[in-house]
Amino acid sequence: MKQSAGPRWKPSDCSHCLIPDILWANASEYLALHAEIKLGVLGIGRRIAVTAWCTKHDREIADPYVGCTLCVQERPDIANWTETDA
Ligand SMILES: [Zn+2]
Repeated sequence: MKQSAGPRWKPSDCSHCLIPDILWANASEYLALHAEIKLGVLGIGRRIAVTAWCTKHDREIADPYVGCTLCVQERPDIANWTETDA
């Protein structure tokens, strides 16, 4: 993951970072996450804006928790995984 220009990252940013949650919810190999630290007015209040990108279809993912809808459509076998207890 690359950090874009902006305020310097600091360890405390990780404490409220969304990325681990997203990776738990969506483990696509084509998922690229981009985190950017945004500052509020007068530099007060930091938040992390996370952008998700599908590297396979080269499109932005609207909802990182859902993942790329095109990838999901290409993998109909996912429905079977939940039904089969192999
Ligand atoms: Zn995709």
